[in-house]
Amino acid sequence: MRQYVTLQCAECGKENYRTSTETRGGKRLELKKHCRWCRRHTPHRQKRK
Ligand SMILES: [Zn+2]
Repeated sequence: MRQYVTLQCAECGKENYRTSTETRGGKRLELKKHCRWCRRHTPHRQKRK
């Protein structure tokens, strides 16, 4: 089963990316992505509903 999640910049809190992930293990997705608002790479975390 796959779940659509929003990735939120850990620094400014903007929701920059959407992706799908496996709902397995219940661990939170965290990726380094470029944030256009911070203008650099920052950790992005899965936003929980
Ligand atoms: Zn940011």
